[in-house]
Amino acid sequence: MFITQIWHLFLDLLFPPRCVNCQSLGSWLCQPCLSQIKFTPRSVCRQCGLTTSLTEAICSHCQHSPLQNLNGLRTATYFENSPIRSAIHALKYYNHQAVVNILSQMLVEAYQRYELSADVIIPVPLHPTRLNERGFNQSELLAKGLSRQLKLPFDTTSLQRTRATVAQVELNPQQRRENVQGAFNCTNKTLIGQHILLIDDVCTTSSTLEACALALKQAQAATVWGLTLARPQHPHHN
Ligand SMILES: [Zn+2]
Ligand SMILES: [Zn+2]
Repeated sequence: MFITQIWHLFLDLLFPPRCVNCQSLGSWLCQPCLSQIKFTPRSVCRQCGLTTSLTEAICSHCQHSPLQNLNGLRTATYFENSPIRSAIHALKYYNHQAVVNILSQMLVEAYQRYELSADVIIPVPLHPTRLNERGFNQSELLAKGLSRQLKLPFDTTSLQRTRATVAQVELNPQQRRENVQGAFNCTNKTLIGQHILLIDDVCTTSSTLEACALALKQAQAATVWGLTLARPQHPHHN
């Protein structure tokens, strides 16, 4: 432990931490940038977790197209709070432990703020081919950080991505659904009756999380909630 601290001090001297967003010296995410990310809406839709008016429990989008397999979805922050984009980029491409810690702390705060309750935490899996290319699954790093802080079990084996899918970025909502349909599989009997929290770094439409939730529900999980680090604030309006 002591040796590790010395080593990190040494690294910090050689490569002083710089804010991943504004490049200012001193920390991996400086206080001004961090406070820009930490925006909490006053009220969110009970289902999809997006900002609603104070009088509306379920947003108008969920009223006519409710979540299919997920019991609910929450996000720690929104893309519109721009420094989060730089932080997620740093997480994806540099796998930086200090950034992982800051971001998983945001998930912990969201878990508490939205009074979520889970028996087991499962990250959205990458296809093995993609995992080999990248070397790590950023959602798994976040889920691991969250499970450590909440002292909840963390499961990376039960849910599997059995089919490689193309990147969702260029696809419309319909294509996104088709792209991930049947891409996940869960055969583990230990999840029967369990309350599961799925973790993903980002979420545009909920199609990937919904496809995971379907596989988990088929494995007889009791409830499946999704928690993401960041979402667009108004995805339904795009
Ligand atoms: Zn900064
Ligand atoms: Zn909603």
